[in-house]
Amino acid sequence: MVKCKICDWKGEEDNAKKVAVCPICRNFLKLFIKDKDLRYECPKCLWQGGKKDILWELECPACGSLIKNQNNMSSFATVAIHQNDEADLIPPIHQSSTFILGKSQYIYTRAGNPTIEILEEKIAKLEKGESAVAFSSGMAAISATILSCMKSGDRLISSCPIYSGTYAFFRDIKRFGIYVSFVNTHTSKIESLIDENTKIVFIETPANPTMDIIDILEISQRVKEFDDNIKVIVDNTFMTPYFQRPLELGADIVIHSATKFLCGHGDALGGIVIGDKNMTDHLRKILVDYGGVISPFNAWLIIRGIKTLSLRMDRHEKNAITVSNFLKRHEKVRRVLYPGLNDSSYFDIARRQMYGFGGMLAFELRNEDDVYTLLDNVKLCKVAVSLGTTETLIENPYTMTHLNFPEKEDSGISKSLIRLSVGLEDVRDIISDLKQALDK
Ligand code: PLP
Repeated sequence: MVKCKICDWKGEEDNAKKVAVCPICRNFLKLFIKDKDLRYECPKCLWQGGKKDILWELECPACGSLIKNQNNMSSFATVAIHQNDEADLIPPIHQSSTFILGKSQYIYTRAGNPTIEILEEKIAKLEKGESAVAFSSGMAAISATILSCMKSGDRLISSCPIYSGTYAFFRDIKRFGIYVSFVNTHTSKIESLIDENTKIVFIETPANPTMDIIDILEISQRVKEFDDNIKVIVDNTFMTPYFQRPLELGADIVIHSATKFLCGHGDALGGIVIGDKNMTDHLRKILVDYGGVISPFNAWLIIRGIKTLSLRMDRHEKNAITVSNFLKRHEKVRRVLYPGLNDSSYFDIARRQMYGFGGMLAFELRNEDDVYTLLDNVKLCKVAVSLGTTETLIENPYTMTHLNFPEKEDSGISKSLIRLSVGLEDVRDIISDLKQALDK
C-alpha cells in the first residue's frame, strides 16, 4: 500500500505508474534520440543520460505527484511564506528596545521581541524542530550553543575541515579546559574519538570549503549507541532546511549562519539554533545573559529572505550543476568538488540525505599560478568571502577564508582551491565570465 501525501490517494503500488526521474534532482525527464539511441534529459538541471542511469519513481494516479519524492515537505514554500503572519501580510518590524510593563507580553528586546519570534517560529517549523533561538550572527549562535552545554573537562569532537571561524572558536575554548578533537572524516572515524567525557559531536556537511559530505544518520546512530546524552550538532548553513533536515536524520541540534542562504541577499547577519524545547529554553537564558541578540530589522530581512528560499535554492542548484559541468570540461581545472556530479564520491550519500545539492561548489586548478589570474580577471563573479547571495561569489580559501587554518593541505584546502557560491544570475553569464577569466 502506498499513500500520496499531497492528495491523500491510497492504493496498491501496482496502480501507480512508474516514471523516469532525474538521478540528480528527481525531476521528470524528457526523452530524446541521439545517434539512434534513446537518451533522457532533465529540463530542470540539464542532466543527460541513458536508461541505466535513471531513477524510477511512482506517480500518484490522482494528482500526478511523485510519491517517493514527497519527503521534501510539499508545503515547504507555503510554510516559508505564510507562517505566523495572519494579522499583517508582512510582519511589522518591532524596533522597540523595551516594552511598557503590564501592557505588553514582552519586556526587553534582548529577552524577546515579536519580530524575532516570527523568525524563530518559521525556521523551527521548516527544520522540523520544536523550537528555535535567533542570534546576531552564525558565530554568536555557534559559540552560545557550545558554551551552553560544556564545562571544563568535557570533550567536543568536530569534523574537519570546517568553517574557519568555527575552527578558531573551538581552538579558543581549550583555554577553559575543554578538550577539542578535530577529525578529518576522509581519514578517520568520528566514533573512534568518542569517550566518556564527550558532550558534543559537531559536524558541518557539506564541509566549508571542500564540500566533503558526512553521513548524518550514521554519525547520529553511532554517537547515540555510545551515549544518548551526547549532542550531535549539524551546521546546516550550506544546505538550508530546503535541501537538508538533520533533525530528521537523528541530529539533536541544527545551527545556521542565517547571513547566507536563509537571508539570501547579503544584507543582514544572523544565526539560528533549532532543537527541542528543553535545549532552546536553556539556550535562550544563555542568549539573554551573553547578549548576542539579533536586531529586529535583521530578523525581518531574514524572514523576507526565507519567503523565497525554495525558489532561490532551486535556481542556485540548477546554476551550480551547470557551472560544475562546464568547469569539469575546462582544461585548466583539475577537479570539481560538487556532490551533485554523478562521478563525485559523495553522490550516493548526498542523494540519500539531501533533497538537492545546493549552490556551493569548489574546484581545483591544475596550476596554482592561475589562481590569481582567475580572481583578478572575473568581472561578474565578485571576489568576496561569504556565500548564499544573489550574486556569484568567488574566493581562494587558502589565502582568504581559511588563511589561518592549520595543515590546510592535509584537510584538502590546497593553494589552487577555489570556492564558488553560485548566484542567481543567468547561468550563461556566469559561465562566460569564468571562461574568459580562466582562458587568460
Ligand atoms: N557556518 C558556516 C558554514 C559559515 O560558512 C559561516 C560563515 O561563513 C558561519 C558558520 C559563521 O556565520 P556568520 O558569519 O553569520 O557569523
